[in-house]
Formats: sequence, C-alpha cells, structure tokens
Amino acid sequence: MEDRKAYLGLDIGGQSVKGFRLEADGRVSMRAAVATPASAGAEAVLAVVAAILAELSGDGAIATVGAGTPGGVDPSGKVAVDAANIAGWKGVDLRSALSKAVGAPSYVRNDGNLAAYAEWAARGFASRALLFVGLGTGIGAGYVEDGRMLGGIDDKALEMGHVIVYPEGRRCACGRAGCAEAYASGPSIGRIAVEMAGGFDTPLARAALSGSRINAREVYEALAKGDELAKAVHTIAAEALSRVIGQALAFLAPDTVVLGGGVLAGATSLVADVAEAASRYVYPAASAGVRFEKALLGSEAGLLGAALYGASTLLDREELLELAGKAAERLRS
Ligand SMILES: [Zn+2]
Repeated sequence: MEDRKAYLGLDIGGQSVKGFRLEADGRVSMRAAVATPASAGAEAVLAVVAAILAELSGDGAIATVGAGTPGGVDPSGKVAVDAANIAGWKGVDLRSALSKAVGAPSYVRNDGNLAAYAEWAARGFASRALLFVGLGTGIGAGYVEDGRMLGGIDDKALEMGHVIVYPEGRRCACGRAGCAEAYASGPSIGRIAVEMAGGFDTPLARAALSGSRINAREVYEALAKGDELAKAVHTIAAEALSRVIGQALAFLAPDTVVLGGGVLAGATSLVADVAEAASRYVYPAASAGVRFEKALLGSEAGLLGAALYGASTLLDREELLELAGKAAERLRS
C-alpha cells in the first residue's frame, strides 16, 4: 500500500483556532479547536497554533499545511495587516512558524479567500468565477476565477465588509461610518434590532427591551415566526448587502454568488432577497444569469479551503477534484 499523506487545514480566527486533518481519501480523521487567546498577543496565539498542529500531526505523514487568517498576508506568508481582533498579529511570520511546527510545506492565505476556494471546490470546479460573501462576526469575502483566488496586494482584496454603502451611516469597527459590516454582520444585525426595539411591540422587541442578548440568530428565529421587528431588521441588512454585492457584480462579473457564514444558518430568505435587490444596484447585463446560492459548507469551509489549497500544490487538477469532491460530500451542511 502506497504511503499516502494527509493535508492539514487551519482556521485562525479572533474567537477560535480550529484545525482538521484531511486524509488523502477525503476523510476528515481528526479535528481540534481552542479559544484564541486574542488579547494575550501573537506569541500566545502561535503557541495555540503549534499545539493544535502537534495534535493533528500525530505520528507524522503530513504532506502540506494550509492556514487561513484574518487580514492580509504577504507573499512570503507574513501577516501584513493587523487583524482587528488579534493583538500584535501584524508582522508574524506565520508560514515559517507552521512549517517549523510540522516539518511540511505551509501556505497562508486570507480566510475569506480560502472559504471561497472551498465553496468553489465543493461545486466540482463548475463555477468559472465565484464570489463568496461570509456573514459572521464580520463580513469576509473571496473570489475564485478559474481556480485561482483573487488576492490583490497582500491578499487584501475583497474586504467587502468595509465598502461604504451609506455615507455618514452607522459607525463601523474600522473607525469609519456606513460600511456594509455595520449593517449586515451578525453582531450588527443584533444591535440594530436592539436600537429599533422601542418602536415595536413584538416578542423580539420585548426581549430586546428586557435586556436579553440579541444576535442575528435571535433575529432570524423571530423572523421565521413573522416578527415585525425582525422583518424590519432583515430588510436593512439585506439592503446593505445588496448594495455592496450589486457593485461587486459590476467589478468582478461572477457567474455564482455564494452567501455563507453563521448568519445564514437561520436566514432562509436572505439569499433570495439579496439576489432580487442586488440587481437594482448594477446595470442589467451584469446581474443577468448570475446564480445566487447558499453556501454548501458550514463553518468548516475555511478549514477545507486551507487544506485543499495546500493539497493543490502537490496534486494535479483531476486528483484535487476527486479529493475535494469526497471531502465536500462529507462536510456538506
Ligand atoms: Zn468598516
């Protein structure tokens, strides 16, 4: 029997560092996750990364390591932009740290790009130009054309969450006002519900006014029951998203737009509503024929993208397609 090596995927986020081990036959044989010691600084985060890699490496036989991180990454694998949620992350030589920990070639990309890569792979490479928009604690995005991720300088392309959709609008974590993220990230959806609660007499409004924690999940659970406040908040989020995605259609000309991330878990109508509204913000030929789809993969899209991106450096297209197909089949949400 041929000695077939495994591919490790890592997803380094502000809340957790997650990893999995993708075997050559497409099985995910091990998983690990640890809360990110984000405020303790880069060294503490790297120690967590090394511990996860040691656990997943087991007795060795690792072919490649792929990792996604928030913010930008330069071509040598150094973090090029300070992630808003990890103190001192800028300047960390992540690629070297990963290679040293595992003794295998390592690849580091922006996490939104890797999630896009996974959604492209999960569709059997069938999309020629796929735009992925992930709605979670922030808004991440990525674009894959003919199998290549669009990175721009230091992998900073597609920061769609910080495209301004309402000049002088809501305050964003980036310090400016009116970014899409201030309307359509999970926490923003929750905050808008709380701010608007006084004008409504609905179960969601009463929960918000009594001080209950409201996030996108609560808003979309309420929307499923016809809550009028939830409807109003959803309309605001969908409208902001439609504005930025409509413009992205003009810039990128994707054939497929995929919406994913934790917010989508309960937001059944979001994909259709954004598809309908985005066409109002771009000339007709740019939106004609574009498919809007819900993500096929759940919260492990970034992990799969990272592992497959590493694998893509060793496998030919057919081999990668086979690996991606088997893995995606098992990970489909
Ligand atoms: Zn912003």
